[in-house]
Amino acid sequence: MTYVFAQSPDLLRRFLKDKIDDKIKTRRDRFNQKMKGDTKRSYLKLIEREYEGIIKKIVAEKRRLNPSDLADAAVSNDLVKKVVSFQRNRLSAIPEKYKKYSKYAIQKPLRTENPPMLIVPPYFYNANADWHRVNIDLAARTRSIVTDLPVFGMVFCSTEMIETSGDRIIEDFGRLKLDGFLLWVNDFDGRQGFRQLRVVRGFVKALAGLKKPVVSMYGDAFSLVLAYSGLTGYCCGICYAERKAADQDVDVEGGMPVRYYIERLKKKVQVKLEAPRIPLTKYQLGCNCEICNQHGNYSELDDANSREHFMLVRQAEIDSIRAGQSAEDFSNSLKSAYDRYKDEPDLSPLTHLSHWSKLLT
Ligand SMILES: [Zn+2]
Repeated sequence: MTYVFAQSPDLLRRFLKDKIDDKIKTRRDRFNQKMKGDTKRSYLKLIEREYEGIIKKIVAEKRRLNPSDLADAAVSNDLVKKVVSFQRNRLSAIPEKYKKYSKYAIQKPLRTENPPMLIVPPYFYNANADWHRVNIDLAARTRSIVTDLPVFGMVFCSTEMIETSGDRIIEDFGRLKLDGFLLWVNDFDGRQGFRQLRVVRGFVKALAGLKKPVVSMYGDAFSLVLAYSGLTGYCCGICYAERKAADQDVDVEGGMPVRYYIERLKKKVQVKLEAPRIPLTKYQLGCNCEICNQHGNYSELDDANSREHFMLVRQAEIDSIRAGQSAEDFSNSLKSAYDRYKDEPDLSPLTHLSHWSKLLT
């Protein structure tokens, strides 16, 4: 699911997050410091049939890829060619499991053929200056061979890296004449400390200064705050994958408990655990969406219902931003929710509301 803050989201309408996500998972496991057990069959197929080259070589050698493996221009060009071709040719149909959500699509009917709206250069977790140089080099090579589609550079690093080298990262990417940026801040979410939130907010603002779209690969409700610093849009699963670490196992998302998003508090609670204990109506935190109106108490909601509730509520939040809600109004509403509920033990912690409110003023 990709959310776009702009009034006119045409620019990004065909940008389907799951496509890119598939690729990231694949590459992250292959390149990215973590290799547990056997390589998944789907990845092996990808390596055998699509990537070949250096990727096939390091997998056969059962080792990690190093920046020096990509020092040779021929090797890098080959990787870029393969990754670009994979995106052009293999990711052009909408996955079956997302077809049920097509009723929320901006464009109807949803086309069955869905060529990429943009191309993402091959990239790696920017763990140090060497990997940063590799990423810049691969992005430059991608830019030089892709002339018919937008190329979005991937900025993938930690908050610490942003703090020490954020200006340099933006300067180097800025020289490449890319069409936009994808941002993946390692394992970041909006409940982290004020300092981290401020670092990310500052980085988004500076990156947006390049006057190109900036889309965050993972995001929770803090992305709504970042919209005011120039974030163009963000992606997340429907109720999951709001943050992701470079070394996160790919299959941990299955079997999550049903969670319910409380719009005013910008947080989720586990339905089974909390619903008997926290009567949201008592706190005047009830929801008026179609789903909640049908079911009454949120304890009645199953996984599909709570996800649908989330989508409807998030849509309304995005619509407020698109309609021109001022930073001051948004800040005030976060602050008033914080003041009102901060001392309710059932609802805490709510410090994120206070942090977010401050960042908007
Ligand atoms: Zn609802």
